[in-house]
Amino acid sequence: MNRALEFASTVRHDGHGGLADDLATVEGFAAWSGVDAPTEELRLRTVELRWAARSLFARVTGAGERMDAPHLMPLDEALRVVNAAAAAVPRAVRLEWEPPRLRHVDRATEGERLLAGLATDVIVFLAGEERAGLRACPAPRCIRYFVKAHPQQQWCKPACGNRARVNRHYHRARD
Ligand SMILES: [Zn+2]
Repeated sequence: MNRALEFASTVRHDGHGGLADDLATVEGFAAWSGVDAPTEELRLRTVELRWAARSLFARVTGAGERMDAPHLMPLDEALRVVNAAAAAVPRAVRLEWEPPRLRHVDRATEGERLLAGLATDVIVFLAGEERAGLRACPAPRCIRYFVKAHPQQQWCKPACGNRARVNRHYHRARD
């Protein structure tokens, strides 16, 4: 899974009608990001960036009214959040002489670098060829996105396909 999709997948259906969010607490955020002792502010900014990315994914895939819809942003706001996070860490190249090596240097904090890295992954993904294969899983209650691995793939994972079939059967049986 590419990093942009992995980032978007930090929130999913919890199986009980709610959302399970890996970034809901500072502890969860630290475990997921690897950032030492992150602040609540950094967590909130990361969550905002995640919803911005998911807003763009929803737009690309035409995802309908799913459980995460209340968190989604209009297109211009989502683009602003993603582009601002990526632009917050300007990088320069530096030549090291012995051994000869090109290094990227910046003056960012660890948190800014994390946000810029995630935002850059989202931009590279949505500006690239993989975007054409991005799909919103249509199974009941699922809010995952996936990139089609083969032309017939309809669901994010086989369990979602099974659930959708059971659901259809149940509705037919009741009609
Ligand atoms: Zn699914």
